[in-house]
Amino acid sequence: MGYEPPVLPPFAAKKEKILGRNLAAVREKYGLKDKPIVKLGSNENPLGISPAAKAAIFDVAAGASRYPDPDGDALRRVLAEGFGVPFEWVVLSAGSAEFVDWSARAFVGPGRAAVMSDYSFSAYKSSVKASGGRPISVPALEYGHDLPRMAAAIGDDVSVVFVTNPNNPTGTLIDGGALERFLEIVPQRVIVVLDEAYIQFVPQERQYDSMALVRRFPNLVVLRTFSKAYGLAGLRVGFGICQESVADVFARIRSIYSVNAVAIAAAAAAFRDTEHLAATIENNRLGMLQLTAGLNKLGYRYLPSYGNFIMVDVANGQAANERLLKEGVIVRTLDNYGLNEWVRISVGTPSENARLLEAIGPRV
Ligand SMILES: *Cc1c(COP(=O)(O)O)cnc(C)c1O
Repeated sequence: MGYEPPVLPPFAAKKEKILGRNLAAVREKYGLKDKPIVKLGSNENPLGISPAAKAAIFDVAAGASRYPDPDGDALRRVLAEGFGVPFEWVVLSAGSAEFVDWSARAFVGPGRAAVMSDYSFSAYKSSVKASGGRPISVPALEYGHDLPRMAAAIGDDVSVVFVTNPNNPTGTLIDGGALERFLEIVPQRVIVVLDEAYIQFVPQERQYDSMALVRRFPNLVVLRTFSKAYGLAGLRVGFGICQESVADVFARIRSIYSVNAVAIAAAAAAFRDTEHLAATIENNRLGMLQLTAGLNKLGYRYLPSYGNFIMVDVANGQAANERLLKEGVIVRTLDNYGLNEWVRISVGTPSENARLLEAIGPRV
């Protein structure tokens, strides 16, 4: 007889494989052979990796037989200087998804709960469940966060609130003033995790100073990632910025060597490569105009987005996805959010956007 697994608690749900994440599998299933695939399903950087980051990877590869610095201090210093915060306030993680997991493990757990918005990053719910805690998902307001309602949902057992700005998958943005008023009413014993995975794509006139918020609110953790605007999704680097007392909690539960040597070096180089970042932001601005103009013409309704993706009403997300996959275009269905009528489309290069528009065709 083989190994009999123990009866797992209900939170240990099996992770579904999403076909659109694997190019080889899509090619095989849809008979696409050598046809170039347009991957607009994961909000990756369509311009690719920064040349400086690529060079840094080759530089450190030869030394990969050595363990990395356990806390990634070199990168922490670069980030602390860039954000104008003390070095101790910066904690690195293997992607910000890992940081979400730590937030749940450290502060939620059995008998406690975490508040989040409907239609926000699915990792919050799964991490809270995996910690043994209870997720409380608050109904959205026009597809965005309803902050007053989220504040009202903070009962005695709530220890963490997740806020995503801009939000994935809906692309909505909370303005700085509303965020500040929310932080003023959240009790200081509750950790607020402000996930800013897409903040670089927010236009200058809508930006707010999240570091000023971290200085003011000792219960605030700002999460950033190198996976999106910085083009390093495959290397898994993210980080949190928070005051030292909270950073110390994360430093204690974080696994040693969480971020590898190659990722540390690439992220530092990518952070300094402001030219690649600026090109990425400009590509996104123009691509968003191209996509919205095209979608308007084709008769689609979409939500105005502050991220590098756009949520489009296609009537039937699964059917549209199948149609697009046959044309070699990968988008993201949103059934797991209960948004069955919509798909999320990442902004690509001009030619990728054109292929998407051609493949999606007029709204039926
Ligand atoms: C993509 C994304 C992240 C980043 O995940 P990584 O683990 O850093 O790749 C975090 N939060 C949101 C809302 C995202 O969409």
